[in-house]
Amino acid sequence: MAGAIVTLLLVLAAAYAVTQVGGVITLVFVAAVLFLAYRRLSLLAFTVTFTVLLALYTAAGAPAGLWKGLLWVLLAGLWLLNVRPLRKSLITRPFMAAYLRLLPAMSQTEREALEAGTVWWDGELFTGAPQWSKLLAAKPPALSDEERAFLDGPCEELCRMLDEWHITHERGDLTPEAWEFLKTRGFFAMIIPKKYGGLEFSAYAHSCVLAKISSRSPTAASNAAVPNSLGPAELLNHYGTEEQKDYYLPRLARGEEVPCFALTGPRAGSDAASIPDTGVVCRGMWQGAEIVGLRLNFSKRYITLAPVATVIGLAFRMFDPERLLGGKTDIGITCALIPRNTPGITIGRRHFPLNIPFQNGPIAGSDVFVPLDFIIGGPAMAGSGWRMLVEQLSVGRCISLPSNTTGAAKAGVWATGAYARIRTQFNMPVGKFEGVEAVIARMVGLTYTMDAGRSVTAGAIDGGEKPSVPSAMLKSHLTEMGRQVGNDAMDVHGGKGIMLGPRNYLGRAYQIIPVAITVEGANLLTRNLIIFGQGVIRCHPFVLREMRAARNPDRRAGVDEFDGALFGHIGFTLSNAVRSFVMALTHARFTRVPVSGETARYYQHIVRFSASFAFAVDVAMLTLGGYLKKKEGLSARLGDVLSSMYLASMVLKHHQNQGAPAEDLPIVEWACRNLLYQAQEQLHGFLRNFPNRALAAVMRALIFPRGLVYSAPGDELAHRVASLVTASTASRRRLCAGIYLTLEPHNPLGLLEEAMMLAEQLEPLLKRIRVEGVKTGKVSALDLPGQIQQALAAGIVSQTEAAALRDYDRKSMELINVDDFASGELAARAQPPAAQPRPYVA
Ligand SMILES: Cc1cc2nc3c(=O)[nH]c(=O)nc-3n(C[C@H](O)[C@H](O)[C@H](O)COP(=O)(O)OP(=O)(O)OC[C@H]3O[C@@H](n4cnc5c(N)ncnc54)[C@H](O)[C@@H]3O)c2cc1C
Repeated sequence: MAGAIVTLLLVLAAAYAVTQVGGVITLVFVAAVLFLAYRRLSLLAFTVTFTVLLALYTAAGAPAGLWKGLLWVLLAGLWLLNVRPLRKSLITRPFMAAYLRLLPAMSQTEREALEAGTVWWDGELFTGAPQWSKLLAAKPPALSDEERAFLDGPCEELCRMLDEWHITHERGDLTPEAWEFLKTRGFFAMIIPKKYGGLEFSAYAHSCVLAKISSRSPTAASNAAVPNSLGPAELLNHYGTEEQKDYYLPRLARGEEVPCFALTGPRAGSDAASIPDTGVVCRGMWQGAEIVGLRLNFSKRYITLAPVATVIGLAFRMFDPERLLGGKTDIGITCALIPRNTPGITIGRRHFPLNIPFQNGPIAGSDVFVPLDFIIGGPAMAGSGWRMLVEQLSVGRCISLPSNTTGAAKAGVWATGAYARIRTQFNMPVGKFEGVEAVIARMVGLTYTMDAGRSVTAGAIDGGEKPSVPSAMLKSHLTEMGRQVGNDAMDVHGGKGIMLGPRNYLGRAYQIIPVAITVEGANLLTRNLIIFGQGVIRCHPFVLREMRAARNPDRRAGVDEFDGALFGHIGFTLSNAVRSFVMALTHARFTRVPVSGETARYYQHIVRFSASFAFAVDVAMLTLGGYLKKKEGLSARLGDVLSSMYLASMVLKHHQNQGAPAEDLPIVEWACRNLLYQAQEQLHGFLRNFPNRALAAVMRALIFPRGLVYSAPGDELAHRVASLVTASTASRRRLCAGIYLTLEPHNPLGLLEEAMMLAEQLEPLLKRIRVEGVKTGKVSALDLPGQIQQALAAGIVSQTEAAALRDYDRKSMELINVDDFASGELAARAQPPAAQPRPYVA
């Protein structure tokens, strides 16, 4: 409504201007200047063109009074800005001095960490004019024959071996056979190079393996994810000495060593750089000889695989108080590999993470003496631990949790679509009620988004990227989406999802969700502090250049660089303001994008939000500076806008990668609409909470001149989307491809599909019974078995048809039924642990 009113007012103003003397010429002049800003001309090109335009405007006799004066002052200012020595001394130098004072001090380690990884599509979204060709030209992710064979062979076999109820309730662990299979068939060696005996899988294949296991067993998926994520193998691969690689990597690949990585402790969780664990350089005895080594004291908790680990990747802070190494006394965070049996280590007890008994527990070390060679990369890498961790996180975080969560979400959609078809209430499949359709559509749209995000980004990694900002976006947003999908799946299943037991295929996946939310950078921290905080420095086309220039010890070169960056930045901001206004006003209808057809509008809207976002970011940085970091609510919302645009781009690329199937368009529309609606709402939330209200009003006029006109997915779209997964369709199979769907007695996903297909096939028979039997009174039984019996007796169905209906009834009720237990069966069988001191609590 507000949008319509503003549009009407603008049209009236333009119409009024046209009726005034010189009004048309003024309109043309203003439009031409806006066009120049929109097209991002260089300062000199803009000044020259502006001069010509103003000369023509003046020759036409249109400008007058104050307006005329303003334009000539502006022109003079523009020419002066083109005189570089003048602008450097009058503007650049004083600005740079003030900027440097505001710039927070940063250690070399922090700087390296911040600059870790590469900038990919995330960087384009910061420009306000993303170059789609860069994304569209990227090769779709693909599996090699060997990777495909692994998924269809060992991975399928593993899934068949896993029984989540047995694992979670009866054993409290994987079976010994499953452990052996995981270790010896390469599941822990997906990232280890072939020359060391590993599988050396692509990032995409690695992701597909985890997604498949996760659709079957969250416990096994968690155990399998860790050795392939940030940990000893990854760190050795990139930073290990040749000796370390030659010794450990083949042993890890063969499953002779089980690794864990211990960073978190009781006193340092999210703020992991503040770990109090120490490694002090000193002399000590090692294998009968005195050497210079490290005396380690540490207390770690929450460490996945710790209870069964044979080698511990340990992060600690290293000190050299006696300067035995000749350098600094406080060397910094360092990573080392410590064999489990090293004297002084306490390990083996277990935490119990929300009923999902993957191996996880505390580790403590008291005066553990090890040689300096245990440092990953040798003594030369002492103090480089934080950089190593942050660098490797940019890849690992794109894979483990996004893949596990996507696999679980796919399983949730697959099961829920089928369950909503076979479960009838009020004489209708529950999936046909509008309220349930809305929930199923959300599950589908979010799962499509998750799959797009994880697979397109994995493809980018395989193309050589190390996308650090997308890794934070994927980790945080995909796990949050997974949480929503998990909640929705539970709601649609009602009591069936709640009653735990061997027949429950949702409960454990639902329980593990907070684990995904918390690990590898807890979501609150990642959303509020990391995504935007890291994004703005890494991805912004000018910020890092300005920071580097301001800190350049060569002052003259620094001023030169800063000058170029600063004026580039100013032009960039002004251009984005204009682009934002024009595209918001026109609803991005005239924005050029490289595709046509039904998805083109989403490309256009992403460009529009990119310009608005880039403009808002610059205003926020200019006015709030370092304080923006403290205003986490604002940073989080800007991070959300970036993430929404990123994921919407992934959705569009994923659709293309899959050959742009027309049947999937409703899902693509739901996903894009939802993401762009979120972008709009978060940008609006940012403006509502922006402390400088006058500036907020100006930004609002330039970002939302027509108000909030972008709408969320509607009911009709939800109906079309839900229909795609409550029946056996190609879209359903494409969306859920890659999970464990094999039809066999103990796989609910296979059985649900079978029952759903039977429901579809038998629908005409069931209708016949309703119309010819129930309505005519020939069939009066209240339940299906009775109705089939009476329909058979009344000749409404044949023997064969009755048998098919009975078979369907039995199969669907098997799936709908839940378990019950004798009281004693539910009591914990093990003796309660004896009270004992807990050496790991610092
Ligand atoms: C099941 C499981 C497995 C794990 N595996 C490992 C492992 O193998 N190795 C390992 O080293 N660690 C592991 N962890 C540790 C995990 O990485 C930490 O739990 C995580 O870093 C959060 O630390 P914390 O739990 O101490 O929460 P805290 O740091 O106490 O944080 C509490 C809450 O405050 C939020 N928060 C903190 N600071 C900010 C901020 N500035 N802005 C906004 N929000 C903030 C956090 O996001 C969180 O929600 C594991 C944890 C779990 C639960």
